[in-house]
Formats: sequence, structure tokens, C-alpha cells
Amino acid sequence: MTVLINIMNNFAKLISDYILYEILALIWLLYLWNIYLNFRQRNLIKKLVEPPPAVDGIMTKDVYDKARLYHMDKLNFDDFSKTYMHLFTTVFLLMFGYHHFWQWSIDLGKHFGLTRENEILISAICMFLICVGCTIIGLPLVVYHTFVIEQKHGFNKETPLFFIKDQLLKFLVVQAIATPLLCVVISIVQNGGDYFYLYVWIFSIIVTLFLMILYPEVIAPIFDKYTPFPDGELKTKIQELAASVEFPLYKLFIVEGSKRSSHSNAYLYGFHKNKRIVLFDTLIKEFYKLGEGETEAKGCETDEVLGVLAHELGHWKYNHILKGFMFAQVSCLARVLVYAKLLDYEPIYMAFGFMDSKPTFIGLLIITLYILIPFTTLLEFVAGIIGRKFEFEADRFATILGHGEALKRSLIKLQKDNLCFPLFDKLYSCWLHNHPPLLERLEAIDKEN
Ligand SMILES: [Zn+2]
Repeated sequence: MTVLINIMNNFAKLISDYILYEILALIWLLYLWNIYLNFRQRNLIKKLVEPPPAVDGIMTKDVYDKARLYHMDKLNFDDFSKTYMHLFTTVFLLMFGYHHFWQWSIDLGKHFGLTRENEILISAICMFLICVGCTIIGLPLVVYHTFVIEQKHGFNKETPLFFIKDQLLKFLVVQAIATPLLCVVISIVQNGGDYFYLYVWIFSIIVTLFLMILYPEVIAPIFDKYTPFPDGELKTKIQELAASVEFPLYKLFIVEGSKRSSHSNAYLYGFHKNKRIVLFDTLIKEFYKLGEGETEAKGCETDEVLGVLAHELGHWKYNHILKGFMFAQVSCLARVLVYAKLLDYEPIYMAFGFMDSKPTFIGLLIITLYILIPFTTLLEFVAGIIGRKFEFEADRFATILGHGEALKRSLIKLQKDNLCFPLFDKLYSCWLHNHPPLLERLEAIDKEN
């Protein structure tokens, strides 16, 4: 009998080793694929020293050179950060990092009178410790990106003090939201019976909807200043445009993105009859605040801002937000179903160093972060294709409304302001972009015009 148990144990160990190595192989395979794509793109831009005829009239030689250098720096940084994070993950998994964090959480819990039976609270401590660890490990990359790369190319507007406050605040807000959610999910898994996965899914839908309301109203204003749009010609024209397509505009905001970076943006949000439009001050020439060393205001003229807005209204008209939401929920259901199937499968816990326990939180982490990698990768790829399709649709909507030419001018200006390099390797773009490249968008708008 003992022999039989030994054989069974060895077999389980063999499977769990296999699972860990398979996960590592998968992670590194994806890494190589991404490095290969960057290599292809880098080769392309190395060759394109002089602006090709395709970018005539889109950017000057000076802007083209700057965009090229910026893109090159970003590619190199991406290679470096991916290598750094993959090496770290590999060492972490081989050393059974999650198991150590779990043990530390139990030890820490003991100081607060918790035992192994208090799994939900131990999980909350464990998540906190893992988040602290991840933040510390990732911090050098964030600092380098903000204060070296973005700084060098003139985009960073954050001071070191603002950066520290911002990072700390971000960490606290994420913890304040994620901790109670995790506790509820674990308690549903443990007490939900045979159909727990359905309840987890329903809970996730409710939370997503709730966060969609909470984020712009409560969370985003913690980080940036949102002010009602000042009265004037632009505001009147925006209201007229919204009214012309029966968009139920409830409030119009301008956000002070310029404190953070000079990259620009615009978005719509809100449910049913309470829609809001948010424009970054960096998007509008009138509101652009010159940074250190900047002599010319970036941003768009009135008709170009309306072009951008007409595009955003296209996303609303074609229900892109709802469609994106449904896509996310269907994929969430698929994830929860896989989780439900594998929840009690011991070898996956053994693969991560858990020989005699199966904590719910750890199961959630392992399955969603590692076991589901092929599924997540496929979903991201499909989401990219759908995202690009949505962008073309929104551009077409703006063009039909008569804003095609202004939209083109704004896209060209934003490309220049954000120093986006306009030329891409086909495979690189197809795998990584959720917005179509500028030249493809301009061509599509011309066809529609
Ligand atoms: Zn869009």
C-alpha cells in the first residue's frame, strides 16, 4: 500500500513539475515572439532614415526624426523591461515565490490573532504583500520610463514629488478597491456550492458596472483636476454637435492632463441619459499650458476638436462601449468556468510549491495569471482586431457627419504632438495595435469623403 502511495505521489510530483516547466516555456515563447516583433519593427525604422513619400504632408523632416528616435527608445525600453520582468518571474516561480508569500502572510496573520482557518483575511494580507513586492520590483522601470524616456522627448510634466505622491495614492486606491472584492470572491467560491462560478460571474458584472460609474465620478478626480468646460465658442459648438446626433450630453469637463504629461486624449462616459464628455487640456490649443522649453502650444483648433469629438460620438452611436463590455463579460465567464474545472486539481498547486494545501486565492492567481495564458493571448489578439474595426467605424461616422477633413487634420496634429512614428511592420502592427495606424485611417477617411 505504502509503495502504491509513493508511486502516486511521485506521479503527481512529475505532473506538477511538468506544469511549471510548461508554464515557463509558454512565458518565454511569448517573450521571444514579442522580442521578434520589436526586432522587425526596429529593422524597419532603421532603414527609414529619410521620410518616405507616404508621410509627405503629414510631418516635417524635423518631427519625423524626433518621432523616429522616440519610437526607437520605446522599442529598446520595451525589450529591456520585458527581459527584466521575465527573468524575475522565472526566478520567482522556480523558487516557489507564491508559497513563500503565503507562509509570510500566515506568520504575519498570527500577530493579529489569525489562524490558517481565517483564509479570507490571510488572503487579503497575501495580496497586499504580493502587491508591495510587485510595485517595488516594477518601480525602477516606471521611474526610468517617466524621468528618462518621457523626459528626454519632452513629454514628462511630473515632478519627483508629484510622482511619489501619485504612485502612493494609486497603490492605496487599488488596495482599497481590490481587497474587499477579493474577500467577497473567496467567500463566494467557498460557500457558493456547485454553481459558485455563476455567482462569481454575476458579481464581476455588478462590480464592473459599479466601477464604470465610480471611476469617472470618484476615482479619476482623486488623481486629476476635472473642471466644468468654460463657456465660449468651443463649448457652444460641442453642445450643438452633441445635439445634432441626439447625444444626451449631461456635463462637459476639461481635465488637467498637463500636470502629468503632454500626451492628449478625449473620452465619453456615463449611462443612459447622463452622458459626460471629458477633454484633456492637452488636446485643445486654447487651453494648452506651455511646459519648460516649449515655445509652441500643442493641441487642436476648434474644428479639429469637433472632429475628434465626432469620432468619439461614433463610438457611442455604434454602441462600442456596450459591445466591449459584453466581450469582456463573455471572456470573464470563460475564465471562471476554467477556474471552476481546475480549482481542485492538486498538481497545479504542487507546481507552485503548495504540497499540502490549496488556498482559494492562490488557485485564482495561478489559473488566471498562468494557466490561462494561451486563452488570454488569443483574447487580446481578437480584442485588437475588434478595436481597430471600431476605430474605422467611428472615423466613418465623423466623416458622414461632415467632419472628415477636420478629423484628418486633428489626427495628423495629434500624431505630431505625441511624436507617434507613422510607419509599421505589418506583423508588429497586426499583433500589437488596438488602433489602426494613422496612414490607414487617413486613407479610409478619404475613401468615405
Ligand atoms: Zn476611437
